[in-house]
Amino acid sequence: MLDLVFWEGHVVDSSEERADGSLLLSLSEDPSYSPRCGRCGSDCVLVHERRRRQVRDRDWFDRRIWLDVPIRRLDCYHCGARAAERLNWLDAGERITHRLRAWVDAFVQILPIAHVAELTGLHWHAIKRIDRRRLQAQYGHFDARGVRRLVMDEFALHKGHRYATVVMHAERMQVLWVGEGNSREAIRPFFLGSVYI
Ligand SMILES: [Zn+2]
Repeated sequence: MLDLVFWEGHVVDSSEERADGSLLLSLSEDPSYSPRCGRCGSDCVLVHERRRRQVRDRDWFDRRIWLDVPIRRLDCYHCGARAAERLNWLDAGERITHRLRAWVDAFVQILPIAHVAELTGLHWHAIKRIDRRRLQAQYGHFDARGVRRLVMDEFALHKGHRYATVVMHAERMQVLWVGEGNSREAIRPFFLGSVYI
């Protein structure tokens, strides 16, 4: 039997094949694991309540995987917060695991979003949100110190019906910012320091 820990703090209780062929794994709490406060990360023993949530995990071979997860809300005596426990594989309020997000992150760099949606079964908007988050983490902030010369260019979107503007560092030819539109108003956020792509 494989002894792999996929969902720290939880163990698989039962599995059920659903009508659409996906697999629903019902998890329960691992009694040997102390939950951690969602705000400060300290070990917590006071459980205020438990709620179950269904989340998607990365596919296993050709199977879609759903998890039914009990999530504890804890009363933390270190920081005083009442918050959902911190898990190292699922963010608070999220409907997909880190493992599935990493899979989507890899796909969106080589495939159009519509294809990634088809492959993963996730909604187009969910994938767009994941991609935006990846781009923000990777390129969202830049240090404008030392930038003396800028290059600006525009490119067509949607078969030339709309335009986007790209601002680059002239010496390094590094992209600093991309914004939709090519008007003076459209590029204002760059100069105001709103540097999200
Ligand atoms: Zn705490």
